[in-house]
Amino acid sequence: MTDFDYLQKNVIDRGLCLRCGECVGICPTDAIFVKDFAGLCLPAYKGPCVDCSLCYDLCPGDKVDFPLLARESHPTRHSPYLGDYRRIFYARSTDPEIVAGAASGGIATELLLHALESGRVDGCVVVDFEENRPWMPAVKVVRTREEIVRAAQSKYALLPVAAVLKRLKRDRGRYAVVALPCQIHGLRMMQQKIPLWRERIKYMIGLYCMNMLFYEATRSLFERFRIRDPRRIARMNYRAGAYPGNFEVEETSGRSHRLSKFGFNHLTFFYTMPRCLTCTDQTAELADVAVGDGWKGIERERGVGQSVVITRSVAGDELFESAFQAGLVARKELALADALRMHSNVLDYKKRGGPARVKILRRLGRPVPVYDQDVPAEPLPWHRYVVEALLLLGLRVLSTRLARGLLRLVPLAILDRGVTKIRGVWRYFTRRKIGRRASGKVAAGGTRLVWG
Ligand SMILES: Cc1cc2nc3c(=O)[nH]c(=O)nc-3n(C[C@H](O)[C@H](O)[C@H](O)COP(=O)(O)OP(=O)(O)OC[C@H]3O[C@@H](n4cnc5c(N)ncnc54)[C@H](O)[C@@H]3O)c2cc1C
Repeated sequence: MTDFDYLQKNVIDRGLCLRCGECVGICPTDAIFVKDFAGLCLPAYKGPCVDCSLCYDLCPGDKVDFPLLARESHPTRHSPYLGDYRRIFYARSTDPEIVAGAASGGIATELLLHALESGRVDGCVVVDFEENRPWMPAVKVVRTREEIVRAAQSKYALLPVAAVLKRLKRDRGRYAVVALPCQIHGLRMMQQKIPLWRERIKYMIGLYCMNMLFYEATRSLFERFRIRDPRRIARMNYRAGAYPGNFEVEETSGRSHRLSKFGFNHLTFFYTMPRCLTCTDQTAELADVAVGDGWKGIERERGVGQSVVITRSVAGDELFESAFQAGLVARKELALADALRMHSNVLDYKKRGGPARVKILRRLGRPVPVYDQDVPAEPLPWHRYVVEALLLLGLRVLSTRLARGLLRLVPLAILDRGVTKIRGVWRYFTRRKIGRRASGKVAAGGTRLVWG
């Protein structure tokens, strides 16, 4: 049995693979590759395996020790909802062109540009689209301003970002990487085990993330727009136009199609990768700087994006401060309570619902990851377990071929309105709950829980 067999048996076959790409990137003999990127996107073996065990040891699919991995960052504050951090801000790039082309406030782009142009790094790892297939997201190592700006915007599809390590191993230099929380878990595990990588990956800019979608979700919209051959697509964007943006496809003929950002979210019910249901990190807790949508802004300008920014490590805080001092970002410090309220629905889903879902699945004898993490201490009422059990069942049913097929019969306009309504109600209820905790009416402490 090779070490890859061990990974296959303990992670991949048990449904715990996060598709982060860590095993592909770290393998010293390039024995692992991603099979069917636009499908299940799982690692597969081509050999030879030299039994170094790195693919399994550094895999965040079945285990993450948050306190151990956060220790190096020297954070000064802690919240069981947000993890370890130093400061929290609303922020926006001061360059209107960057904001206009970004997902929210253009902070990720601005920090990458600043890291590169101030000589702190030699290159950046971003997610752009393939040159010849502008409908397929692709991980790229870039070294110029133009390339970084072009890669702005969120790509809501599975992408094994850490597989890029394969390339970074060959190229010399220091890098800044933009990645999702689970991808950062693996990269931090690697830095812990192989200290050389602490120098090589100088900054990790983490994106808030509720879940990832199979690429099939994107493809289902092509069908909705009656685009049978993707070669008809000239340009695509997940969040084009005024904030919060639209999923937009432009055909070579000039015809274009769009669906609002919240309308796009209906796909979450049908195409979420199941492993995301047992991930309890919404805010990239191990990043140097974490960035998410700032749903309440510095100034309330309609249609102009803004970000919520959490600086976590000394290096991340210094980079953000330096960008501010250089006049590249506008910012306003944000109280913890406001940061919690702003994302109350998803924080509740991840930090209270996540551990509940793990418990339910474990009771049912299903594989779950072993996380060592601080989570909100207050016990959940029994009916919350019922809700989470129904959610697990519901998402399972909705991800079947039949449900996905039936979905196509529902007009997009109805889905758009429905999902926007659901989001409003969800936010209303969780804001009150999380707000009470944030304002101290209910103990906001955490408890360190090792589960799995
Ligand atoms: C899959 C996914 C889920 C998300 N879920 C949430 C959420 O629930 N709540 C929330 O507040 N925010 C979420 N975000 C983050 C949000 O969409 C913005 O990316 C974030 O606010 C940063 O905005 P910005 O304007 O600063 O970034 P920009 O300046 O637009 O730069 C974005 C950077 O992210 C990189 N990138 C794009 N897609 C990916 C990807 N799939 N993997 C790794 N890097 C990528 C780009 O290369 C670019 O450098 C999610 C993002 C993604 C990709």
